[in-house]
Amino acid sequence: MSLYAEFLTRIEQKFPEDGAEMAMSEYIVANTHLRKRPFSFEGYEFQRQIVDDLSLNMAVIKCSQVGLSEVQIRKFLSFLKRTSSINGIFSLPNDDMYKRVSQTRIKPLVDDEQIFNQHEASKKPVRSMALYQIDDSFGFITGGKEGDATSINADIMFNDEVDLTDQEILALYGSRLQGSNIKMRQGFSTPTFEGYGIDSMYKASDQHEYLCRCTRCNHWNLPVFTPRFIRIPGLPGDLNDLSEIDNDLAVKLDLENSFVMCEHCGAPLDLGNRPLREWVPRHPGRLSRGYWVRPFATPRLSVRYIVEQLLDYKRKNSLRRWYNTVLGEPYNDANARLTLTEIEAVMKGEGKPDVSSETPVAIGVDVGQTCHVVVASLGLPIPLVFDWLQVPADQLKMTLWDLRKRYNLVAGGMDLNPYAPLAREIHASSKGVIVPIEYSTSPKAAPLTFVKDELDNVTHVSSNRTKIIDDIVGDIRHRRVLFTGYGNKKVIIQTHLQDMVRIELPEQPAKWNKLTGDDHFFHALGYMRHSLRIHEVMRAQEVKDERQMALLFGLVSAVQQNEAGLGFRERIKTPSVLGLG
Ligand SMILES: [Zn+2]
Repeated sequence: MSLYAEFLTRIEQKFPEDGAEMAMSEYIVANTHLRKRPFSFEGYEFQRQIVDDLSLNMAVIKCSQVGLSEVQIRKFLSFLKRTSSINGIFSLPNDDMYKRVSQTRIKPLVDDEQIFNQHEASKKPVRSMALYQIDDSFGFITGGKEGDATSINADIMFNDEVDLTDQEILALYGSRLQGSNIKMRQGFSTPTFEGYGIDSMYKASDQHEYLCRCTRCNHWNLPVFTPRFIRIPGLPGDLNDLSEIDNDLAVKLDLENSFVMCEHCGAPLDLGNRPLREWVPRHPGRLSRGYWVRPFATPRLSVRYIVEQLLDYKRKNSLRRWYNTVLGEPYNDANARLTLTEIEAVMKGEGKPDVSSETPVAIGVDVGQTCHVVVASLGLPIPLVFDWLQVPADQLKMTLWDLRKRYNLVAGGMDLNPYAPLAREIHASSKGVIVPIEYSTSPKAAPLTFVKDELDNVTHVSSNRTKIIDDIVGDIRHRRVLFTGYGNKKVIIQTHLQDMVRIELPEQPAKWNKLTGDDHFFHALGYMRHSLRIHEVMRAQEVKDERQMALLFGLVSAVQQNEAGLGFRERIKTPSVLGLG
């Protein structure tokens, strides 16, 4: 018997009267209440399948106002009740949300529902804001802290608001299921960026969409907020993007008589008619399960509501939030990610220019199994990146040696990790020109710190990761760097430069997050740029040291010269003159 079947049997054994035949949704209706009346899925029938779905790996994209947070909690608690001796984790992104959800949503449900209070009178269950015992099962509610993600072992895990949660913490949570026979993980979230968090999990899944059949022509529709599906009397025929509706246009619209229509024949869709609606997977064979809950999954959210929200979010200058929360769609705003237009603007041709052996150049290296190397000429007012190399790690030393032979290499930066010994070797053999750089992600990380060994030699530089990436992004946006010589690598470079998004969450430092991890030239460019800064700081330090030396040397010679009857002023120049000679 598979572990999963065994788990289903455990449900059956514990509650033979409901057992595997009683779907979770029916169990919730039969045993829980909302505002003193039995819980009902009326108007939100799409929720049933999500609640009943016991997939071990599931991702749900949700918009707001569709009641999903409410049913997730009921599903979680009912699980604990229906399965003997299991541990569950319900995670929220931060302390505030954790406290609010635990106190205002979970506690009342656990306290008030009879079904969660069938313990023997003498055995008082353990209950607190962070932990709810139901019979012999335990539900841990957490706020996305590292400690929680590494200390509690669990059988089932619900991650709420995946996209607002620190993605590294989220990865840590995964390991909490390792010791379990069940290992169920279900994530729910409002989407944020395309390819990020819940959106990428959904994309990897079988991708269920909630369709609606047209009663007139039988066409199956996936209704979304576009002119194909939305009929608004008074709307100009040439408006293709409904997000362009503004206050001036809105007053001309007859929102009262607007409706969602069949894209095929234009008949109004009967969104609340249950037999017409069905969850349909785009990729039925895939192992992980995905659901995308959009506003027209329920008949309760009108076109008027969506338009009013649009105007409201526009007033707050937050179109992205409207896409994310009201439509439940990911949205890439220009500030969070480099746009193709911004990248194209610095791409000046695939051909390689002639760069003489005297022209100063700088390099940046992203180290991996395949290393990505960028070479920039510094002979112009702004750096011109003219060579883009992808070399296997075992050929990196040779490649860098060739570059040093061919060009006047004055600066370079490379990953200290993952091969620190290689980075140190290159640092030494380049006589300190190519500096190993370690990204620091601590909130208080300095822009640039020289790390020294016990003999006071610089071993590497530790630098604020967000700042390094912000700087290269700023350079690209303001065209303070140009690209050429990329040959057929144009698309690769564009892909890499679009693979990170800048995430800004309340009470957390801004952070660039990878979408797919295909971002190597991005980091190579960042290291190249940062190496210029490192050498600038080192030169400033040298000049300072030289001045001190000069002063010292000057004073010494001034004293000697004074003794010989010559002026102080003239003599102080001597050391630098000597230095040139
Ligand atoms: Zn139709």
